Amino acid sequence: MIAEITQSDYSQIINALDLLALPCPHCKCVGMCIFAYYIRRVKNCSFDEKTELRILRVRCLNEECRKTHAILPSTIVPYSQITMSDTIDIIHCESKEEAAEILGRNLLLDPKDIYRTRKRFTEYWKSKIKNIKATMGDSSFFTACIDKYRRHFMQIPSTLCSSYSCYHLLWSALPF
Ligand SMILES: [Zn+2]
Repeated sequence: MIAEITQSDYSQIINALDLLALPCPHCKCVGMCIFAYYIRRVKNCSFDEKTELRILRVRCLNEECRKTHAILPSTIVPYSQITMSDTIDIIHCESKEEAAEILGRNLLLDPKDIYRTRKRFTEYWKSKIKNIKATMGDSSFFTACIDKYRRHFMQIPSTLCSSYSCYHLLWSALPF
């Protein structure tokens, strides 16, 4: 199971990042600066209510680019409030009993979350991951999704990482 990232974990990682050594996913030039922060809400079962993470947005220092990028941990699915850990459990769920078990474990989830997550997986990702050799949930799996499809796993296909500018802190980089 993937441990959920807390605000203090995230802040620790962000503080340790050398922004001047970070390459821009858009123009490939090296060097970023802090641009802004925004609040991201996640349905995390460890807490009674939605967890809020203050996410850093950085800006490319290349004057001709100046694109901004959100720095997202790989435990978060872009544009979804369902954690990566719950998302993977929902994909693997094979019966109504297993679905009920997931809902019982995380009271912030509802049956629509299960339906939509499974639909999104079947429609957009099921065929894609056949080309990926790593096990779903491993850091090499997330890296392969970004390398091959330029999207974080379960990110909806109309939003490419490079055009919408997500910068993923992959699982292997997290201190757990
Ligand atoms: Zn750039």
